[in-house]
Amino acid sequence: MPRKRVTVVEDEADIREVIEYNLARDGYEVTSVPDGEEGLKKIRKDSPDLVVLDLMLPGLDGIEVCRKLKADSVTTAIPIIMLTAKGEESDVVLGLGVGADDYITKPFSPAELLARVRAVLRRGPLKEAQVSKERIVRQGVVIDAARHETKVNGESVPFTATEFRLLHFLASHPGRVFTRDHLLSRVVGENVVVIDRNIDVHIRSIRMKLANHRNLVETVRGIGYRFQDTED
Ligand code: CA
Repeated sequence: MPRKRVTVVEDEADIREVIEYNLARDGYEVTSVPDGEEGLKKIRKDSPDLVVLDLMLPGLDGIEVCRKLKADSVTTAIPIIMLTAKGEESDVVLGLGVGADDYITKPFSPAELLARVRAVLRRGPLKEAQVSKERIVRQGVVIDAARHETKVNGESVPFTATEFRLLHFLASHPGRVFTRDHLLSRVVGENVVVIDRNIDVHIRSIRMKLANHRNLVETVRGIGYRFQDTED
């Protein structure tokens, strides 16, 4: 199998070196670039398998780089992991909003970096449209999109249409963090009455119905929600 190619865009030399070293040691082919403008050029030219992108960059910042990559049909499918500072949840929300696939908070351990990189490469690009016939089985939960039915511990449990869409969407993308805004626009939809638009209320209800499997739907503090990753 050819080695996966990763482009790292990070202005801090020591962090860049740590990432480079650890990814290279794990078998990736790594290219690194110290600023956004150059990063963008390099990524467009190389089409890597993955981009690790710092948000705080001189000149063109990470959010802009991410926005431009996701807006371009040539680079839109390249997964992006953002590097963010601790306590900057609003940056993470912003980054996920412009299409980043995941994030790592500084400071991070090499093990955490490698785990995120592997998870994102394993998951592949986000498939928004593909929320149809799929049947998802996790622990004692079966989510059957064709039948529009959810079974918990063998028993059929009634979910509202919104709850079902939300649960199925999250479960279709295990390990991936979604912001409330994303879930609202993609799952709840624009035509739903205002009272129905509170994601947290739907999530609470979903968890109640999942009973002893409630932990499958995880809260990511300050950011949103995710369905438990398959390799956790
Ligand atoms: Ca930086």
